[in-house]
Amino acid sequence: MSTPIASLLSPEEIEFQRTVRRFMETEVAPLTPEMETKGVFPRSLFRSMGELGLLSSFFPEAYGGAGAPLTTRAIVSEEMARINAGLDISVFADIVLFARALNAHGTEEQKQKYLVPVLRGEKIGSMAITEPKGGSDALSARTSARKDGDHYIINGSKTFITNAPIADFILVIARTSGEPRRIDGGTWFIVERGTPGLETGQPLQKMGMKSSPTGEVFLTDVRVSAAQVLGEAERGFHYLMESLDTERVLEGASTIGIAQGCLDAAAAYAQERQVFGRKIAEYQLIQEKIAAMAVGIEMSRTMLYRLLHAVGRGEKVTREAAILKLYSSQMAVQASNDAVQIFGGYGYMEEYPVARLYRDAKHHEIGAGTSEIMKIIIARETLKARNAH
Ligand SMILES: Cc1cc2nc3c(=O)[nH]c(=O)nc-3n(C[C@H](O)[C@H](O)[C@H](O)COP(=O)(O)OP(=O)(O)OC[C@H]3O[C@@H](n4cnc5c(N)ncnc54)[C@H](O)[C@@H]3O)c2cc1C
Repeated sequence: MSTPIASLLSPEEIEFQRTVRRFMETEVAPLTPEMETKGVFPRSLFRSMGELGLLSSFFPEAYGGAGAPLTTRAIVSEEMARINAGLDISVFADIVLFARALNAHGTEEQKQKYLVPVLRGEKIGSMAITEPKGGSDALSARTSARKDGDHYIINGSKTFITNAPIADFILVIARTSGEPRRIDGGTWFIVERGTPGLETGQPLQKMGMKSSPTGEVFLTDVRVSAAQVLGEAERGFHYLMESLDTERVLEGASTIGIAQGCLDAAAAYAQERQVFGRKIAEYQLIQEKIAAMAVGIEMSRTMLYRLLHAVGRGEKVTREAAILKLYSSQMAVQASNDAVQIFGGYGYMEEYPVARLYRDAKHHEIGAGTSEIMKIIIARETLKARNAH
């Protein structure tokens, strides 16, 4: 198992990484088979992570955080995805999507009511953008809300929403004015479970990420007060676009964690398994796969930390975030494929973690913007930068 190159992490971050790794190996790994079967994680895990400060590390101290750099979030994500990539996407939705939006745009009252309990791991958040008619074209959301005095009435539906079946709070984007595809006219609403007209479906049966419950959200004449609007009304799609780069950078940590989990398992197995009288690690065709995994992980990790520092300095990283997301998700899919291959028949069995990692890796080529959308962004931003010269 490797550690990010020391020069990329401060001594405090290396210490934090050790704590996180210990937690994942002792508290999360033993529960993983049960989480995968049940399709959900125990809520007590969130409370334990809250108590240890693993959820709140980079949030302000005023809300229970440690005010640490964003690198701490990447450390948690990488270590968690290495052990359980499904749990990682549930925490991602809870913290990177829900809590970060609350912190950026919430009023003091909203932060106390929604952000603080989420960072403590007592409540769980979720963010609902994708709709049955399409996720890539987020600005065409059909869910709408109309003003009614000092309330709004929301109607529509969302799908593929991480944590929806169990979330206490769901951040929903709805169009409050304007035509589809217009960036103005979107509004975020904080909707609490139990609000009349809000329903969530049964957990969807997925190919992977089984520890993470995913589901639909149905909104039928859901009446919320103007105090449930997050940030400025009509600015919702702007907030969404502004937050995507950081989300994609942080998703790089999840993909690296998956690939690291594959490399750890495959390297150990290759040094044990004997075929034709020799350890398979001695065969160059196996070494080629190990080398490809190591290269992909190191290249992605170096870029991840470079981008985290750039984001911390407030730099715009749209093109680079898309490059990291595209490259590292494809790299994780390839690493999981190679890991299964190294394990041979055992790779196809549930007894070892690589079959699960193989299924889980694929998610990251789709969620938070597909590979095709990443390529479109990379080309657009590259051409824009060239034309600006
Ligand atoms: C496990 C899981 C968890 C998720 N969690 C959440 C969540 O918490 N919240 C949330 O809001 N969403 C969530 N999503 C949804 C996810 O963000 C969407 O699935 C994703 O954005 C793609 O949208 P779509 O599935 O509607 O595909 P579509 O947009 O219908 O795309 C279908 C295909 O067409 C391609 N395509 C689309 N446009 C173009 C184009 N212009 N050029 C070329 N190809 C194109 C796509 O790349 C894709 O291959 C989750 C998805 C999964 C699988």
